Amino acid sequence: MSVDCVLLDLDGTILSTEQLVIQVARAVLEKYNRELTNDVIACSMGKTPLHAWQSVTDMLDLAVSPQQLYDESEVELTGRWQEATYLPGAYRVLMHLQKHGHRLALVTSTSRDVLSKKIQNKELLKTCFEVVVCGDDPDLANKGKPAPDCFVKAATLLGIPPQRCLVVEDSPSGAQAALAAEMQVVYVPSLRGTMVPSSPKISSLTSLLEFSPEMYGLTPFDDSISQCIPMSLDGVWKISGHVVKGFGRGSKQLGIPTANVDALSVATCIPAGVTGIYIGWASVTKSSDTVYKMCCSIEYNPMFENTEKSCEPWILHDFGDANFVGQPIKLLICGFIRPESSDFESMDALIERIHLDADIARDALDHPSLLQYKSDPFFTHHSG
Ligand code: ADP
Ligand code: MG
Repeated sequence: MSVDCVLLDLDGTILSTEQLVIQVARAVLEKYNRELTNDVIACSMGKTPLHAWQSVTDMLDLAVSPQQLYDESEVELTGRWQEATYLPGAYRVLMHLQKHGHRLALVTSTSRDVLSKKIQNKELLKTCFEVVVCGDDPDLANKGKPAPDCFVKAATLLGIPPQRCLVVEDSPSGAQAALAAEMQVVYVPSLRGTMVPSSPKISSLTSLLEFSPEMYGLTPFDDSISQCIPMSLDGVWKISGHVVKGFGRGSKQLGIPTANVDALSVATCIPAGVTGIYIGWASVTKSSDTVYKMCCSIEYNPMFENTEKSCEPWILHDFGDANFVGQPIKLLICGFIRPESSDFESMDALIERIHLDADIARDALDHPSLLQYKSDPFFTHHSG
């Protein structure tokens, strides 16, 4: 059903605050002579801030209350919100909708004061919204999400009936609020496994790179390159990790070898909710400066109760019997092909699709806007 406007949430939908929170946590712990190790980060990810601090104090044997650490980090975060970056696809969606004259509103639980800090250095966010509804608007006191009031208010200010509004949300309570307001919803969960009421009015995406405006009567995107969405506008992902052993499925079952990147490097570079099939560039050893085309799947690994995300590049080059396990690997992911899918009719259908993905990668990566990343300093700069 066509819509006349799009109402978007801010935190976790447009802006990613994850990396910022890690940096701040690191600084807070330094005061207590503790180091935020990778193990602790891995264990705290996806938890609510207070629960995350609880795991930190447990794991690092700290005699400070989680509440105290939480309070300290909040103070620090207040001064650093402008460092938050755009979530994948968000900048592209906003630019596109604005350019084509579609009406936009921001509906956030953030206070107007904190909002101004968060968007301080983000020109697009300062100009693209016709209406901005904030959590501390006096008429919304005690009517936060999941109550529908904030969305109803935005629609009223725009003069558009709820049925003609599309809401973009990452939280279950936000999605509930939008449904209660009788609006259509694009749900882009920022955390894995969060539940949302099932309704024909909701469609779920793993990131805004999957958003199809034409499904809602809005102008379709026109920037794809060989069936692939370039990520240049939102920022590419640079992962520097090492190759770990997988389950031996790639070569044996599919005839397609994939080098598995260590889970922590993946978790710290790619936002939690994101999965799908991507393309980009890869290098596999420190000594070699050769950068190859690659196609990779990013998905939650069923072997680890869906808590560990795997990133498995198929490097589009014949290395013979070479084995990279234990070696450093660098990936620069710069394009999105499709969401992951589990409904292939047969193993052959899956293999055929993976070969098509590789063909798309070979073709798209020759395009100047993606070819430029092959010579990115990321590949030639050796740290450590
Ligand atoms: P696993 O389950 O361990 O990932 P695979 O059968 O997928 O097993 O084989 C992956 C291994 O194959 C990688 O770890 C790497 O050492 C090697 N390999 C050889 N050629 C390639 C290639 N072109 N792309 C990715 N990995 C390759
Ligand atoms: Mg593999």
